Amino acid sequence: TESRTTAAHGGAIGLHGIKKWFGNFQAVDNVTLDIRPNEFFTLLGPSGCGKTTLLRMIAGFEMPTEGQVLLDGSDISGLLPNQRPVNTVFQNYALFPHLTVAENIGFGLKMLGRPKAEITSVVNDMLKLVHLDGRGHNPVTQLSGGQQQRVALARALAPRPKVLLLDEPLSALDLKLRKSMQIELKRLQLETGITFVFVTHDQEEALTMSDRIAVMSAGTVRQVGSPWDIYDRPAERFVADFIGETNFLSADVVSVADNRARVRLSSGAEISASFPADVTPNGSVTVVVRPEHARAGAPTGTSALRGVVHDIVYLGTDTHVHVRLDDGTAFMVRQQNARSGHCGFSKGDTVGIDFSDDVAQILRD
Ligand code: ATP
Repeated sequence: TESRTTAAHGGAIGLHGIKKWFGNFQAVDNVTLDIRPNEFFTLLGPSGCGKTTLLRMIAGFEMPTEGQVLLDGSDISGLLPNQRPVNTVFQNYALFPHLTVAENIGFGLKMLGRPKAEITSVVNDMLKLVHLDGRGHNPVTQLSGGQQQRVALARALAPRPKVLLLDEPLSALDLKLRKSMQIELKRLQLETGITFVFVTHDQEEALTMSDRIAVMSAGTVRQVGSPWDIYDRPAERFVADFIGETNFLSADVVSVADNRARVRLSSGAEISASFPADVTPNGSVTVVVRPEHARAGAPTGTSALRGVVHDIVYLGTDTHVHVRLDDGTAFMVRQQNARSGHCGFSKGDTVGIDFSDDVAQILRD
């Protein structure tokens, strides 16, 4: 028989042409997203970009000004929050301090009027799921912050929703606990098969856990893709800049064939670059190269770029070599440190910079 903690499958969420106005302020501007069943999907963006508002519209706490919210293809816009098979975990846990761990976890089921024996059995399953077996009788106030967050997760998972919404649930935890809870959340999502929609402004958190990420800015979705897509194939400057560290280079398009372009850098060197599927590059373009994809060395006649080292930052595992290119552009190379430590450059050295053909990406204008 199927384990009690295994849902048949998670729900698919469709957001179609969603707009949300608060008075004359537009918080969400025409968002269309299809979140797949069983997916760990993350809404990522800076503070105020509309992530929480979007989540609250899936939960039913806010109504869209325009557009539809679909669950498994049916419009759920008319349903109250408690009529939707959707639950939310908040940053501040919102546990009941006067109840035990087990009573907190069973609270939603009790409200639904489920039989006592069923509640006991589900609560026991949930305690195991979040690794709190044997702690059911403890007052929640006796638990650590990380344990309380796991109780909040268990409580939200107990009624077996089709979709779990998580609004920055780890931001109150210290760094080490946050890292272990990231792994824990991913495990819970895989084990339950419930669709997770996770909100964060932390790009590393998003890259670590997500099947797919929607990067948002000012009420709009800028790019949707796997962590790999978002990091290695950013479509535009905002995405490239928001996720990780990036070098921007000006270039002129020489030719385009299939899905590669030849571009000429200001150094005169020609390189090959990829570009977003909906773009046909021409004229002047911006190309991005991630710092860890470039190598610095003694300049040669064939170096793609040339410049002078103006700063060297040692970071333990890596060294950041900051170079001022001949045309004045700043460029950073991240090198993994060898055991001997020193990166081999000094401030003022002239260096050549190279990267392999497949790492450069042309941005949409
Ligand atoms: P954060 O990470 O800071 O929570 P966010 O991306 O989740 O940011 P939202 O909370 O969705 O952003 O807010 C988007 C914008 O809408 C913000 O400018 C916010 O001030 C505004 N906003 C949200 N709720 C309301 C409301 N009830 N009334 C008026 N403005 C609101």
